Amino acid sequence: MSDQAGSLFARHALLAGGWARDVLLAWDAQGDLLQAEPGAVPPPGCEQAGYVLPGMVNLHSHAFQRALGGLTEKAGPGPDSFWTWRELMYRFANRISPEQIEAVAAQLYAECLRHGYTSVCEFHYIQRDVNGEPYARPAETAERVARAAHKSGIGLTLLPVMYSYAGFNEQPLTPGQRRFRTGPELVLRIVEALEPLRGPQLEVGAAPHSLRAVSISQLRELAQALPAGRPLHIHIAEQQLEVRQCLDATGRRPVDYLFDEAAIDARWCLVHATHLSDAEIARLAASGACAGLCPTTEANLGDGIFPLEAFIAAGGRFGIGSDSHVSQSPVEELRWLEYGQRLAQQRRNVAVDGEQRDVAAFLWQRALQGGAQAAGRRLGLLTPGRRADLLVLDSDHPNLDGLDASDVLGRFLFCGNDNLVRDVLAGGRWVVRGGRHLDQDAIVQDYKAVVRALRTA
Ligand SMILES: [Zn+2]
Repeated sequence: MSDQAGSLFARHALLAGGWARDVLLAWDAQGDLLQAEPGAVPPPGCEQAGYVLPGMVNLHSHAFQRALGGLTEKAGPGPDSFWTWRELMYRFANRISPEQIEAVAAQLYAECLRHGYTSVCEFHYIQRDVNGEPYARPAETAERVARAAHKSGIGLTLLPVMYSYAGFNEQPLTPGQRRFRTGPELVLRIVEALEPLRGPQLEVGAAPHSLRAVSISQLRELAQALPAGRPLHIHIAEQQLEVRQCLDATGRRPVDYLFDEAAIDARWCLVHATHLSDAEIARLAASGACAGLCPTTEANLGDGIFPLEAFIAAGGRFGIGSDSHVSQSPVEELRWLEYGQRLAQQRRNVAVDGEQRDVAAFLWQRALQGGAQAAGRRLGLLTPGRRADLLVLDSDHPNLDGLDASDVLGRFLFCGNDNLVRDVLAGGRWVVRGGRHLDQDAIVQDYKAVVRALRTA
């Protein structure tokens, strides 16, 4: 996987203004797009493709949780909830080593690439060793994540997490949270240690974990100390219990409280933001911050349904993330984003606006815009100056064969379970060919060894 300039001739490519014909795409050795020219003639020897899309941004990931997916679906003695799931997740988080984090992340990122994500924002909160002591290198585990991203080829926004308390009113951390313990100072040291890794394929931001886990003064301190323009992400209003606890502790709902107390703008991504009042919907939309929606995880954990229609009407920005990784597919994420709305409202075709009436096109393009903003990288459009992140769909598949380009996204997002992503270019490198990741065998082998070791540990 060498870094080389390259080109691709697409009979149909999804550009900023919609589908265009006969598009010549070219990129430089750094992985930036140089050209996305419609109406071109294929140069001799240039590779050709049928339908080409910009690769999706995955704006919320806890990579290590990939190894836990599907293993928390047995009912306990009482009613299960997000909070009982979290206990199981902590037990797992307290065993995994830095080497194992790297192997699991590489597996996850290769899967994400195969399904059409070309970049990911890693909300990274295992910062200490299994005893809760600091590593000799403060960014030990974060560097492992960066290595996994490099190995897989996916673009990365690394967000070291600040995590100081177990609940509102600065409750002390529990033993299960010992590996997450960080304040502004340690997070900023980790950010600094990651500086040399920054480049076209890797950005570094930071993430106050949630209003439960940090004080508002810590949040302000971190946001002010982080270099200008770097992304800031926070979990917020995911669970009703969290909203009630915030009301009890502060007299205000979480999003209201955050906006009252901190300067929230377009460099922020509010992850989940599931439970919003009408006033909070308006505030979040007007701020220019991105809502980070994770529909498959939110369904799996019984969080609730985001008020998408009202948020779109207010001009809100959103993107998607796979969070706990019960799914690694942007198709499934976007499908469930729309299906949640249909089920709740007993209606069809909800995610549209006055101009874009095609649900699949609206979802793909808006999730790209929001995701690019949340990632703080030059992503989301096949246009010169952005990263060369693209997907070639399998135009021979029965779902796509002979299709008018305007129907391609509808088929892709709303029909069947075959993976229609055939080839993937991330940062100007081909990383998936014919549905296989180019380093798949080695990555899968390492991952299997880790899962076996964790099972017997
Ligand atoms: Zn999360």
